[in-house]
Amino acid sequence: MSQQLGGQPILILKEGSSRTRGRDAQGMNITAAKAVASAVRTTLGPKGMDKMLVDTIGDVVITNDGVTILKEMDIEHPAAKMMVEIAKTQDDEVGDGTTTAVVIAGELLKRAEDLLEQDVHPTVIAQGYRQAAEKSHEILNSIAIAIKGSDSAMLRKIAETAMTGKGAEANKEKMCELVVKAVTMVADEDGTVDKDNIKVEKKVGGSIDNSEIVEGVLVDKERVHPGMPRKVKDARILLLNAAVEFKKTEVDAEINITSPDQLQAFLDEEERMIKNIVDKIIESGANVLFCQKGIDDIAQHYLAKAGIFAVRRVKKSDMEKLARATGGSLISSIDAISGDELGWAGLVEEKKVSGEEMVFVVECKNPKAVSIIVRGGTEHVVDEIERAVEDALRVVGVVFEDKKLVAGGGSPEIELSLRLREYAASVGGRAQLAIEAFATALEIIPRTLAENAGLDPIDMLVELRASHEKGKKTVGLNVFEGKAEDMLKAGVVEPLRVKTQAIASAAEAAIMILRIDDVIAASKTAAPEGMPPGGPGGMGGMGGMGGPGMDF
Ligand code: ADP
Ligand code: MG
Repeated sequence: MSQQLGGQPILILKEGSSRTRGRDAQGMNITAAKAVASAVRTTLGPKGMDKMLVDTIGDVVITNDGVTILKEMDIEHPAAKMMVEIAKTQDDEVGDGTTTAVVIAGELLKRAEDLLEQDVHPTVIAQGYRQAAEKSHEILNSIAIAIKGSDSAMLRKIAETAMTGKGAEANKEKMCELVVKAVTMVADEDGTVDKDNIKVEKKVGGSIDNSEIVEGVLVDKERVHPGMPRKVKDARILLLNAAVEFKKTEVDAEINITSPDQLQAFLDEEERMIKNIVDKIIESGANVLFCQKGIDDIAQHYLAKAGIFAVRRVKKSDMEKLARATGGSLISSIDAISGDELGWAGLVEEKKVSGEEMVFVVECKNPKAVSIIVRGGTEHVVDEIERAVEDALRVVGVVFEDKKLVAGGGSPEIELSLRLREYAASVGGRAQLAIEAFATALEIIPRTLAENAGLDPIDMLVELRASHEKGKKTVGLNVFEGKAEDMLKAGVVEPLRVKTQAIASAAEAAIMILRIDDVIAASKTAAPEGMPPGGPGGMGGMGGMGGPGMDF
């Protein structure tokens, strides 16, 4: 890369760096982003297909979940990575609508490409898109439907819509009931739902129907010694993040032992030290011990003798859940054990689930701790159901908090599209073209729902538009019967926040990608000749979604 100065070329970039500018840069980024959108498009909606993803070590994931697909795919291109970011943001914020967000972003870019060809300047498009996104937010709020937190029938519908198309399909009703029950149980009076209080535990074996809700925390471990009680009532629980073991020296020490007596003395000393640790635990008054680290064989023996129920190598996240549920605090050193930090539960019990032992901590001090055991025939089934349940928990939680929902099945997108076109006409000028493009882009959702269901998208769109023009705002696509139908009556409903967030982040990403007209990529070590410009390498300072601000 060089610039001319008085006939002398000046190198401003390191050798091997590549630079793409103007339309080429835009074209390249848009193509990459569109490719990501088209990769997930076929999974959208209840009739969407699944993807099987195989990683480098041969692990297989079968899923319909947009964000899972994108996370599993090893995406390299920087603009494509920004699309993955949209899905992640959507997942973090609301837990559903990830495919929707990515598909809309891809379509916004495709429509922008047409405008670029007509020589509309990218900043004009960006401006129009921003206006359209803000207007969409307004329109969505105006068509949203308010519900009561106690409306569990409606909450179940929300859960069902979030679960359609996922592996949980067959026993959706059962799972939805569990989800709504769990969320209702942990919700505060003011409606806030802390999803951290709900633990989803998978167990392969049995059928989906055997899934159940447990009021308390489940730990997928067994007690360390068969001599320990299986059941402890009035459990005083010590949560320890330190090994109940003989401390090994930090330095390599060598001990010379010259007689059997000495060896015995050495072993006795080791045992005495372990016994001291166990005594400390006994003194604290605990009758249940959850240990994040290991518990030595000798310690296990002494603990069993003292009638203490002990579990070792408990996951950190489980320890945190236990602390919340039992009101105990995590202790990270044996010396810090005093007895004040114990948690409490009415019952700690080891029980068999699908032939494997699990520890149930129930009747907890904090009644807001609940667990859902997800059961299913194979690992892939259980994994996909767990993802569906996690999504459903999130959306039900969101609606519980916001108490606002919209109809699904493409109905809000059609309504937005119509209203945005009216709005575009009132804006006029070149921005009008961009707002109209935005309006058309949103139709990609009902269009894709139709395509994925094997229906004619054009016929369907015509039918939907006609209904909405007559003021039927909640008419969407019944993908099973291939006709327009009132989605509210059909029970296909989604949280308002899923839509506002999806459109906001799709617009934000599209705008960000559009505004790039110069891609400068540092050379990757020993990049082969003829590598597509900007292909490899990061795009410094462009990661994340914090670009041109759009607050929704
Ligand atoms: P996402 O990752 O965006 O949530 P999904 O595959 O879950 O993708 O599809 C969501 C879309 O499917 C939404 O537009 C939703 O309204 C629609 N949808 C869900 N259930 C139905 C149904 N029973 N009939 C029609 N559309 C549905
Ligand atoms: Mg979904």
